Amino acid sequence: MVDKVNTLSYFYGNITREDAEDYLRQGGMSDGLYLLRQSRNYLGGFALSVAHGRQSYHYTIERELSDTYAIAGGKSHRNPIDLIDYHSQESDGLVCLLKKPYNRPRGVEPKVGAFEDLKEHLIREYVKQTWNLQGAALEQAIISQRPQLEKLIATTAHEKMPWFHGKITRDDSEPRLLGPPRTNGKFLIRQRDTNGSFALCLLHSGSVMHYRIDKDKAGKLSIPDGKKFDTLWQLVEHYSYKPDGLLRVLTTPCARPDNDGDLSIGRPPIPQNHPGQGAASGILSRIKSYSFPKPGSKKFMAAFRSKTTDNLNQYATRPESTKNAEAMPMDTEVYESPYADPDELRTSTVDRKQLILEDGELGSGNFGTVMKGIYKMRKTEKQVAVKILKNDDNNAAVRDEMLREAGVMQQLDNPYIVRMIGICEAENLMLVMELADLGPLNKFLQKNRQIAVRNITELVHQVSMGMKYLEEHNFVHRDLAARNVLLVTQHYAKISDFGLSKALTEEENYYKAKGHGKWPVKWYAPECMNFFKFSCKSDVWSFGVLMWEAYSLGQKPYKGMKGNEVIQMIESGERMAAPANCPPEMYELMKKCWTYKADERPGFNVVEPRLRDYYYDISQ
Ligand code: AMP
Repeated sequence: MVDKVNTLSYFYGNITREDAEDYLRQGGMSDGLYLLRQSRNYLGGFALSVAHGRQSYHYTIERELSDTYAIAGGKSHRNPIDLIDYHSQESDGLVCLLKKPYNRPRGVEPKVGAFEDLKEHLIREYVKQTWNLQGAALEQAIISQRPQLEKLIATTAHEKMPWFHGKITRDDSEPRLLGPPRTNGKFLIRQRDTNGSFALCLLHSGSVMHYRIDKDKAGKLSIPDGKKFDTLWQLVEHYSYKPDGLLRVLTTPCARPDNDGDLSIGRPPIPQNHPGQGAASGILSRIKSYSFPKPGSKKFMAAFRSKTTDNLNQYATRPESTKNAEAMPMDTEVYESPYADPDELRTSTVDRKQLILEDGELGSGNFGTVMKGIYKMRKTEKQVAVKILKNDDNNAAVRDEMLREAGVMQQLDNPYIVRMIGICEAENLMLVMELADLGPLNKFLQKNRQIAVRNITELVHQVSMGMKYLEEHNFVHRDLAARNVLLVTQHYAKISDFGLSKALTEEENYYKAKGHGKWPVKWYAPECMNFFKFSCKSDVWSFGVLMWEAYSLGQKPYKGMKGNEVIQMIESGERMAAPANCPPEMYELMKKCWTYKADERPGFNVVEPRLRDYYYDISQ
C-alpha cells in the first residue's frame, strides 16, 4: 500500500505534524484543504491533516488487523485512498468534508523516515548474518519474506540501540544517567518486567525522571495518557522531536555500559553491572570518551548502522524476541542446497550405504512409491524423500523416464524447487530428493480450509518465484498444478515433479511434442492442445489454473467437465469463474494467465512482481 500511496501527489511521507501544518498554511488554509502523511507512531498507518476555520486537524488512519484502514472508531476502507474518497462525500465525524488536496510543491518528494532509510540495510544484514546467506539465496529470501522481515526489524531494532539498557532496575539506571555527560534530556529505556512494559528514564535538571511505558492488549506502547506507538523506536523518535507531556525532549542517548561493539540482538539481557559493583570507572570513562549523537541525526543513524553490522557479524542467531515468530523458509534445512556447504561433496550418485529408508510411504506416482529416508552426508544427516522405481515389469522406458527427470532436476538449484540430491542404483533405481513433509498443496488446502488469503498468496508467490527461475533458465515444466507443489511448512512451497519437463535450446523458446500423451488437459494452454507447443508461456497458463486451485482451497478445476468440454469452453473464450472469496486482484491475474495467444500472455517475469506487490500490499 505504501508504494501506491507514495505516488500520490498529496502524500508527504514521514513529516511531522508541525511540518504538515506549515504545508497547509502554504496552501492557504482554505476549509477542507488536506494532505496525507505517514504515521510516525503506527507501523503501516497514515495521518490525514485537514484545514478548517484557519486551524489544522489531524486524524490517524490506522491499519486494522483485517488489512483495512480506518480513522479510530470510523468506517473501514480498503485503502487510505478509498477513505479519502469517502470523506470527500461524507464528513462522518471529520471536522469538514475533504475538499482539495494540497499537492507537494515542485521538487518536494515524500519524506523518507529515519527508519525507512535504515530498513533496507538492516534487512540485508539481518538475513545475511542470521542465515549465513549470500548471492541469489540472499536476494530470494528478502523477496519472499520482506513483509515478515520488515516487521521483525521494526520490532527488534531497539535491542540494538545504545539507549536500550535491557532489564535493569530503576536504581541501576540512575547512576548511568547521572554520570557524565550530565546533559539535560539524556535518556535510556529499560525493560521493566515480563509483561512487556518498559520505562523511559530521563535526566532533567540534575534528577532522573522515570516514565512507565505500558503495552496495551493490542501491543501498542505508551507513556500513561500519552500517544501510542507500535515500536520503542518510534516512541524515541517522537519524544526526541517534541516533549508532548514529558518534562523535556530527549536529547542524548545514555550509553549502555557494554555498548562498545558488544551489542547483540538475540543475546541474554545485558549484565547488570553498575558503578556500585566496581565496574564504575571503566563504564564512566567509556561513556565520557564517547559523544553520542542526537537520535534521528545523521551521525546517530551512522552509529546505529555500524553497531548493527558489528553485532550481526558477531552473533549470527535469530533474536530472542522473534523466537515465537512463524518459521521462515530460511529456517528450514531445505532452503539452500545440501551442497551449498563446500565441505559436502557434490555428487549425482548416492551410495546406498549412506541412505536409510524409513517405514511409511509419503505418496505414490507413475513410477512407484515415494518413501521417507535419511541421507548421511559428511557433516550432517538429512531427511530426504526417495522415489523408488517399481521394477516388477523391468520396463526400460520407465527407467529412462526417471533418469530423464533426474537429469532435469540436477540442473536446477532454487529454494522454491524440490532439489534432487542424487540417484541411487541399488535394489531399485531410486531418486533421492529434498523432503517436503507437508505434501501436495491441493490436499493441504482441502484439509486446512481456515487458511488466510495472505498465507495462500505467500505460497502462490513462492511458486511464481520458482517458475521465474525456470523461465530464466529456459526450462518448461509442463505439469505445473497444485498437486505438484509440495509444502515444506505452511509458509514454504516447492515445485516438484519434473517428469514432463524439458530444457529448451537457445534457438527455440518452445518444445514441440511429437504427439499427444497422457496430458493434464485442464492445465494446458490452447497452443499445447492445438499445436503441441510448450513454452514458459504455456506454464504461465498452468500457473493460472494453479492459482485458481489455491484460492478455491484445493478444488478440482472445471469440476465435472471432460477434457473435450474444457477445450471447447476455452476456445469459445469462456474462463473459469473466480473462486469464492478470491481477491479480485488475484482473479484478474489468473485471467491474464489465461490469455488465449501465447505471445500476448505475460511471462513469469511479469506475473511474479504482480504477485509480489499484492502480497506485500496485504502483508503490511
Ligand atoms: P510423484 O511421483 O512425483 O507424483 O510423487 C508422488 C507423491 O509422493 C506426491 O504427491 C507426494 O505426496 C509424494 N512426494 C513426492 N516427492 C516428494 C518430496 N520430495 N517430499 C515429500 N513428498 C513427496
